[in-house]
Amino acid sequence: MKWGALKELGILIIIFGAVWAGFSYYNYDEIENPFAITLEKEAELSDFMNKHLMSDFKIIQNQALDSSIQIITDRLLSNLDSAQYEYKFHIMDESESNAFTTLDGNIYIFSGLIKEVSSAEELALILAHEIGHAENKHVVDKLIKTIGIEALFSIMTGGDPVLISEISKLTLSTSFDRLNEEEADDFALSLAYESQINPGRLAQFFLKMKAKDQSVLQEKLEFISTHPMSNDRIKKSSDYTLPDDFKEIAIPLDWEIVKSYLN
Ligand SMILES: [Zn+2]
Repeated sequence: MKWGALKELGILIIIFGAVWAGFSYYNYDEIENPFAITLEKEAELSDFMNKHLMSDFKIIQNQALDSSIQIITDRLLSNLDSAQYEYKFHIMDESESNAFTTLDGNIYIFSGLIKEVSSAEELALILAHEIGHAENKHVVDKLIKTIGIEALFSIMTGGDPVLISEISKLTLSTSFDRLNEEEADDFALSLAYESQINPGRLAQFFLKMKAKDQSVLQEKLEFISTHPMSNDRIKKSSDYTLPDDFKEIAIPLDWEIVKSYLN
């Protein structure tokens, strides 16, 4: 049911993204450029989608937990120059280790991920990766690339259900492409460095995941789903060049206590 809900989300993204993008832009050059879609339009679509997400998933409302996550995200966002969005982080009661970005700066964190990571710094790297997808417009880009102009107009002029279904499957199965993942990783490593968090912590998390059952993880975990655990990704994080005087400043959170808020 949970993964089914995500699929439904994918279908919603496609249908509404298509209709809205189609009505908003008729210029092919513009429509192929995710940055051409205004933030206002993105926010409208996002509001609609979030309403559905809220009804499909159980959002955890816990002040202590929210405050803890905010300490992490404040560290990151205060070191991000000119963020494109006002980020909103939502915690969902889901046992899988996952986090994903939708539109308009909405980032969803599954409670399973909070339990999986060993520290606030590790979660910071993963959230920085998701912020990287948002800042680089990867979700909007994916929608435009997946739908394509022909399918877009086909959906708009009556909607062939088979086509919509095929496109939905495609979108969900491909996730982000390799370049997008690399871009999000690069963004995360650099933002972590700026935030005085050791970028090598992403590699630590990858290695820990690698030791687990990959067949399950590859399919489900957003940031390892496309090119899971490639040694390049691990190496980039573990070999990230740090100046000699780099010193990580710990995020002041006891992770065992944070996890206890989920019980
Ligand atoms: Zn990713």
